[in-house]
Amino acid sequence: MTHNKHILIVEDEHKIAALLRDYLEKSNYRVTLIGRGDIAVAQVRKNSPDLILLDIMLPTMDGMAVCREVRKFSNIPIIMITAKVEEIDRLLGLEIGADDYICKPFSPREVVARVKAVLRRANPEQVQVGVSNSVSGPILLGDIELDQINHQAKVNGKELDLTPSEFRLLQVLISQPNRVFSRDELLAKVQGYDFEGYDRTIDSHIKNLRKKLSLYLPDKDVIVTVYGLGYKMVFY
Ligand code: CA
Repeated sequence: MTHNKHILIVEDEHKIAALLRDYLEKSNYRVTLIGRGDIAVAQVRKNSPDLILLDIMLPTMDGMAVCREVRKFSNIPIIMITAKVEEIDRLLGLEIGADDYICKPFSPREVVARVKAVLRRANPEQVQVGVSNSVSGPILLGDIELDQINHQAKVNGKELDLTPSEFRLLQVLISQPNRVFSRDELLAKVQGYDFEGYDRTIDSHIKNLRKKLSLYLPDKDVIVTVYGLGYKMVFY
């Protein structure tokens, strides 16, 4: 399988950016480095990379603003790099709309693992080839319809605007209604990794997914929290 996906690194600290570039290039990714947020947005418009690694602390336009701008025209996977744990909920929330985050200080190996996982999630057809075709048909549950080939989710025929992570999460939950999934399990299935301490990622994605579903299903709680265990999707 070809691995020359294009990664855009937006980071003004050249040492960190160059380190990330070296590791990613060793894993056969094509890498572009940019040190300014405003230039990054223009670059994404022009070249549409496969994934953005986006630092928050940037001159002229910070990473959060860059993410918001990019989200106006693209669902490209974005991994935010942050030094502040307290920012995580906001980063993954609807307002900013990042797919994942990495906390500074990080190990470059972990970054490469995350990039791979997020790309896999964004292009699941590549990993599903030859595994099973039972996952390719549409899934229906109540008013919700999941088109697994085109990655579209609809409620009563109206399309939901989901990020790749949210789609994958919905796909996992809806494929086995009433089955409780633990956060660890969802993390492994949705994110493709199982690092300790990242459970909040799932909570944030669930929160966003609920909000988006509630636009068209205002009176129904289709994703139920099972205390001490995790989450499940219910019939209604
Ligand atoms: Ca920086």
